[in-house]
Amino acid sequence: MKFAQEFRKALQREAFPRRWVDCAIPYGQLKKCLKKVTKELEEIGLDKETLTRLAVHQQQPSSGDSNAPVDPGFKYQLAIDGRDDECGSGGESVHFRPKLTVFVKVEDGIAVDATLSPSTREFLQKLALSSTALTTDALPLADTSSVASTAPPSLTASSATDIRQVEVPLVFDAEFFGILQTDVSNIRTLEEEEQTKLEGQIVALGEELGHAVEPSRGRRARGDLEVWRQIFELYLDACIFFSSRESDHGARTSTQAVEQLHWFQDQVVQRKLVQRLRLDTSHNAFNNFVSINTALLSILKFQEINRLAVTKILKKFDKRTSLGVSNNFLFVARSDRSLANSVAQDVCARMSTELMSVVPQLDDYLCPICFAIAYWPVRLHCQHVFCSRCLVKMSRKGERHCPLCRADTIMLAGLENFDADRAAFLRKYFPKEVKEKVRANERERNQEIFGPSYRTVHCCMM
Ligand SMILES: [Zn+2]
Ligand SMILES: [Zn+2]
Repeated sequence: MKFAQEFRKALQREAFPRRWVDCAIPYGQLKKCLKKVTKELEEIGLDKETLTRLAVHQQQPSSGDSNAPVDPGFKYQLAIDGRDDECGSGGESVHFRPKLTVFVKVEDGIAVDATLSPSTREFLQKLALSSTALTTDALPLADTSSVASTAPPSLTASSATDIRQVEVPLVFDAEFFGILQTDVSNIRTLEEEEQTKLEGQIVALGEELGHAVEPSRGRRARGDLEVWRQIFELYLDACIFFSSRESDHGARTSTQAVEQLHWFQDQVVQRKLVQRLRLDTSHNAFNNFVSINTALLSILKFQEINRLAVTKILKKFDKRTSLGVSNNFLFVARSDRSLANSVAQDVCARMSTELMSVVPQLDDYLCPICFAIAYWPVRLHCQHVFCSRCLVKMSRKGERHCPLCRADTIMLAGLENFDADRAAFLRKYFPKEVKEKVRANERERNQEIFGPSYRTVHCCMM
């Protein structure tokens, strides 16, 4: 199937909102315009073959050393007009203009390059003779190193040979990139709008959920909090939109994301997690959570298909013209960034701050030494938190340095390092784990007093 058709079908199949479809890369229109570009180049004798021949010379850059003889060749670039700063946060108005300059040898007013066909030579000669006016007028932001009508001294001295840099006017080429650029920036705007919308939904959901499962609201809230913790644990394991694991680090394609989202939903069903939610608010929140993820997936698919369209049309452009523009465009338009997965990444980050934070995960509150919940929590002067048991043992062994940052803080710890707020928080959100840890601490202390057989003795007595 031809890509134009495939693209149209994909846009229909995914049932994207009408507005998105209107914003999609106008692949067909670009293809038509590309035909005009090719024709335009052919009309001035710069057909594909000629440009390919010239491109060979372009391989040996001659701009570095102005005394070296300049080979005929061409330089094709997307010159940037307008303001463009380094912050690149999107939304900046950059207009770029394709600029084709050809180096042509002129001897006694006649273009002599053998690589060019007579008609091309004639055309370039005409341009070359009026090149001063042409190049300087047409180049508001021309790089200052390439001066129009460059004549290496050695050549001008010996003969009337002159190497001129000629800018070839390209009407349809400019139109082509105008369309492409407008569209890429429209898609970027659309993405930003959708992202803002999703982030708003996430914040609202976080507030709703945080309120519903606040432990002081009663047993049902505490029960739901426990279930939500499992839901989010599964969600994090699924790494739906990008993976932070070492084995498959990076952004997911939409196909992978679909798979991972299914896995997550299956697991939730298998463990009957939704049934175990007892509050209506929780059920509502879960539905919202799923639809946020589905919406994000939609954005990802839309980005992907459009990025593919841009790549395809640029490849076609290069194939038809030999101008080698693909990488150049993506770089200049920064569409590599805008059409990439930054939205997914930002939205996921938002989810973890707004949603996961109202359902604290045990992993974030473990003691880095014993890997049990850090209770009683002691915050050293270096701000690292450990359970009091582990610190007691460390200081008995004469260890002075924090195992995380090596600061000399252990011996300085006193009663004032006990983190009462953290302790209250842990009792509230992890009552079960706190109880277990308190029991384990007691057992350990008793073993220290009564000897290692304490536990057995204790059991026998029962
Ligand atoms: Zn510990
Ligand atoms: Zn430390």
